Amino acid sequence: MSGPSSRPKSEAPIADARDPVRKAKPGRAAQSPPAGESPPDGRSSPAAEGAGPLSPSERLRQMPQALLAWYDRAARDLPWRKTRDPYRVWVSEIMLQQTRVDTVIPYYEHFLAALPTVRDLAGCEEQKLLKLWEGLGYYSRVRNMQAAARQIVRSFGGEFPRDWETLRTLKGVGDYTAGAVCSIAFDGRAAAVDGNVCRVLARLTGDRSDITLPRTRADFRARILEVLPPRSGDFNQAIMDLGATVCLPNGRPLCQDCPLEKFCACREGDLWRELPVLPPKKGRRKEQKTLFFLFDGEGLLLEKRPDSGLLAGLSQPPMAEGLLGPAEAERWLTDSGISGELLTSMEGRHIFTHIEWEMRAYFFRCRELSGAVPFGELGRHPLPSAFSAFFRFFRQLRNGEVLI
Ligand code: SF4
Repeated sequence: MSGPSSRPKSEAPIADARDPVRKAKPGRAAQSPPAGESPPDGRSSPAAEGAGPLSPSERLRQMPQALLAWYDRAARDLPWRKTRDPYRVWVSEIMLQQTRVDTVIPYYEHFLAALPTVRDLAGCEEQKLLKLWEGLGYYSRVRNMQAAARQIVRSFGGEFPRDWETLRTLKGVGDYTAGAVCSIAFDGRAAAVDGNVCRVLARLTGDRSDITLPRTRADFRARILEVLPPRSGDFNQAIMDLGATVCLPNGRPLCQDCPLEKFCACREGDLWRELPVLPPKKGRRKEQKTLFFLFDGEGLLLEKRPDSGLLAGLSQPPMAEGLLGPAEAERWLTDSGISGELLTSMEGRHIFTHIEWEMRAYFFRCRELSGAVPFGELGRHPLPSAFSAFFRFFRQLRNGEVLI
């Protein structure tokens, strides 16, 4: 059920973490298909000479049987595959969006130990929920999950809906997640098409459509539904596994190990290098921030971020826009009505999906700091991983492990 790194996203996290599909060279997609590729109009392909001339539809038609036989032999042993509880399937799917499988496993187990049912999730206090998610990033996902859990409790008596259309009405549940839960938990007739699946399908059929376009995903979903076998959950998970372990996003796919090799449009030559087609990447917006670690003998000052937007509702040290110099930082502190001694500073960087933060942190030992969070309670606050290095440094500073 899982990709090399992540599931498709209902929102926009760090690109390429889990769906690092290869970008076609500009203009390549508009060229005539090279030898070895099936044209998108369904005409026969020279690439399939060994298996006879095959249309994209024929390639797809041959896929389920070969794929399921391979899955029965090679499926990965993952904790969420030991259950068909839709709640657990759903939690795993949301966590796997843009996060690697091996990273997700401990989070999945910890989260479900704390919140074993959809009712527990619906009733969880916000800061505890954000803390359980700390390190996974994209906190709007877990907020959406809680909103959806409340919908399930309120409108469906705490029972997960079984059909794709109703699942789609839940907050934060997109086409992919609805398809995954519907098929994996209930063997419902639903396709689960994410970037990894698109990569496999584009290569298998030689399709040169831009896979980031909604119409391409809708088209792939429709084509999957035409060939979907009764074991729909296993079938969807099998394509995901194939994308994660064989039809790799980075580097040459392991076609020699692929159950689709005999009828794949990329079975010969280097066509795999050009597929799937992606649009050129947009640059990230750069922003500069200054953080203030203000502490006394008892604790550290934290503030809560706004309830919407990036890192909504998480805790952070006070922050100012721009990269302030030491004199400006001292002035900022005075203007805030706080007096303190500047000990040192540190610089860092964090990359989000579309934004890059260049950061500078100042560490001030303060007198009469009111409202500071006692050091022993810092662990209860959800802190963005964007600041992890600064907090590590702060701990060392407090412990006297840093020479100033
Ligand atoms: S044969 Fe190669 S390119 Fe085709 S689906 Fe399999 S791994 Fe991907």
